[in-house]
Amino acid sequence: MAKFIGIDLGTTFSAAATVDVEGRPVIVRDSEGNNIIPSCVVVDGDTIEVGAHALDTWESSPEKGASRFKRIMGTTNKTINLSGKEFTPTELSSFVLKKIVKEVESQIGEIEEAVVTIPANFAHEAREATMLAAKKAGLKIKNIINEPTAAALYYAYKTGEDLDGIYAVFDLGGGTFDVSIIQAHGKNVEVLSSDGVSRLGGDDFDKAVIDLLCEKYKAISGNDLDPKEISLVQAEKAKKHLTIKETTKQKINGISVEVSRNDFQEKIKSLLAQIELLCESALDEAKIQTSQLKGIFLAGGSTRVPAIKEVVTKVFGKEPTSTANVDEVVALGAAIYATYRADRTKLSPGQKESVEKIKISETTNKCFGTITLTRDAARDDIVLKNTTLIPKGHKIPCSVTQSFYTTHEGQTGVNCKVTESSTIETDPKFVKIIWEGNLELPPNRPEGQKIDVTFSYDENQIMQCSFVDVATGKKTSVDLTMVSTENFDDNKIDKFLVE
Ligand code: ADP
Ligand code: MG
Repeated sequence: MAKFIGIDLGTTFSAAATVDVEGRPVIVRDSEGNNIIPSCVVVDGDTIEVGAHALDTWESSPEKGASRFKRIMGTTNKTINLSGKEFTPTELSSFVLKKIVKEVESQIGEIEEAVVTIPANFAHEAREATMLAAKKAGLKIKNIINEPTAAALYYAYKTGEDLDGIYAVFDLGGGTFDVSIIQAHGKNVEVLSSDGVSRLGGDDFDKAVIDLLCEKYKAISGNDLDPKEISLVQAEKAKKHLTIKETTKQKINGISVEVSRNDFQEKIKSLLAQIELLCESALDEAKIQTSQLKGIFLAGGSTRVPAIKEVVTKVFGKEPTSTANVDEVVALGAAIYATYRADRTKLSPGQKESVEKIKISETTNKCFGTITLTRDAARDDIVLKNTTLIPKGHKIPCSVTQSFYTTHEGQTGVNCKVTESSTIETDPKFVKIIWEGNLELPPNRPEGQKIDVTFSYDENQIMQCSFVDVATGKKTSVDLTMVSTENFDDNKIDKFLVE
């Protein structure tokens, strides 16, 4: 039986899951029985180590290891030095994925196909970098899914009864925060809006604990303490104590230092406020009142922090559902999605039955547009302007065409650009150009020749952009790939053709 796998490639922890022969989503544990492995890589000479042992080594020899590189996925100029060698975040992620592949295959056999999850607010480059990491790890990947959608999908299963209505998915992990408003009918999941930040999570809480410990240490001993003297491992342990207890005592340089949950909550106040604001903006964007919410689903280890549960309850006006292991929900949902997108002839009757009723629709997480020369009538001048074709939050799949016109007599070419922005933007200065090409035009034509620009965004998160000279049918097009197809390689762009 072919194996379809869902992988939650997390900032701090990663997990893998599958849908078993009977059709139940299950976590694939590693050979040591762990349900999640630290996304930590250590390089020592020629050996590369990933997971719990790597985390231990990293703690004692930070120059040999790295973690949290997901935060810089998709940046082209940043590398991380491990034991004197430079690695890109994509390479480091591929090492984590390779380790997962090895563990999964030793447990359940060869992987036929996998789905890797991605934060809803990941930019184009970060999505591509993730796909490339998967390819480097030898995985066959045709689909990706946003983390909150995966979590919602799993909750749709877990509750037993079909979901019906609007729900919030609140995902707070080690390094990223994502909040999404989804609409679900039975096993149909639709994302209405998504907000978040890629630099907010449990790591910030660890830092808050370190600050607190330093302050308390000084109050007791009168001496300043270098925050570096407190290990992240110790800080995380103290933080987890505060999840279940009102106070925690930590030994630092032989002195016992006590920190209370109240101190901690006070210290992270501004982060809690930021989280609250992002939840409100997700609600606004989806045009939803809290009274319309049927439920709130949690994902990510940091949602165990009592102050976070309080914020969630406050901002959404009801207590979150806590029927699932928050460390596992994203991987489990991804496994369901991998099975849903699989070649159905390769599934067992149980698996088929589990995914038959599913339908998922997502929305774009950014605005996509193009920059053109436009005649500014008021100033009788020609100016550069960005026009949004697909706004943020547009349902996927979609296809949008807009016509533009040449601005000069005898114009022999059009500079074609595809832009990305987080809000609708007309000023080219405030958008990111994610692709650029040329469309050559025949000579000796008057101005005002029609150029049709079409962006088609499909459910596999591939956006096909074409620029067509309507009079001649000449076309320049590109597939901007968020997902690997057969020939995916280091090039940013899969295909570039001029017909
Ligand atoms: P990511 O998706 O970013 O990889 P996870 O969802 O695995 O992260 O969450 C990891 C974070 O959750 C870490 O910062 C960890 O310290 C935190 N965490 C896990 N369990 C607890 C707990 N019981 N109390 C507080 N924080 C926790
Ligand atoms: Mg996560």
